[in-house]
Amino acid sequence: MRLLAILFLTTAVLYSQDCTNLTTAKNTVKAYYENGVYEKELNMVIDSALYKLSALSIQKGDAAVFDVDETTLSNYSHIASMDYGFRLDIWNDWIMSGKASAIMPVKRLYDSLLSRGVRVLFLTGRISEQYTATYKNLKNVGYSVIDTLVMKTPQDKGTPMPIFKENKRLELEKKGYRIIMCIGDQLTDMQGKATGIKVKLPNHLYLVD
Ligand SMILES: [Mg+2]
Repeated sequence: MRLLAILFLTTAVLYSQDCTNLTTAKNTVKAYYENGVYEKELNMVIDSALYKLSALSIQKGDAAVFDVDETTLSNYSHIASMDYGFRLDIWNDWIMSGKASAIMPVKRLYDSLLSRGVRVLFLTGRISEQYTATYKNLKNVGYSVIDTLVMKTPQDKGTPMPIFKENKRLELEKKGYRIIMCIGDQLTDMQGKATGIKVKLPNHLYLVD
C-alpha cells in the first residue's frame, strides 16, 4: 500500500513538472518571436552558414535547396492570428492569399548564394495546387530568382516528409545539380542523402515529422 502511494506521488510530481500551462506556453512563444530573440537566433544561424559558404569553391551546377514555410516565407502573422492554433482549411486559404512575408536573414543567405553563382532551388511540402500562389508569393517578397520550385504531387501523398524531400533532392541531382547546402526549419528538411551543408533554422511554432 505504501509502495503504491509512493508510486502515485512520484507519478503525480513528474506529471506536474513535465506539463506546461498552455497560456504560459503561448506567451513564451509570442515573446520569443516578437521581442527580437527569433531574429537574433536566425542571424546567428545565417552568419554561420555564410562563413561555411565562404570556404567553398563553387562549381557549375552547384545548388542550394531552400524549404518554404518558416524558412523563406514566414507565416507568423497568420499563426498568431489563429491564437497559435491550426485549421487546415484556413491555412490553405492563407497560402492561396500569398501574403506570407520574407524571412530577411534567410534572404541575406539567398542573395549571397546567387551572387556566388549558386542555383537556387525551392523544395516544399506544399501541394502542387498551391504552386502559382507560392511562386507569386516568393517573387513578390523579393525571391526574384527561382531556378526550380518543387511541390508535393498527388503521387507523393502519404510519403513521409524526410523520404519525400530526400527523393526530390536525389531527382534534382540526377538532373545535374549538385546540392551544396540545404536550408530548412525542420530536421525533416535535411535528413538522408544529397543535403550538402545543413542549415537548421529555429521554429517554435510547429513540428513536422
Ligand atoms: Mg518549413
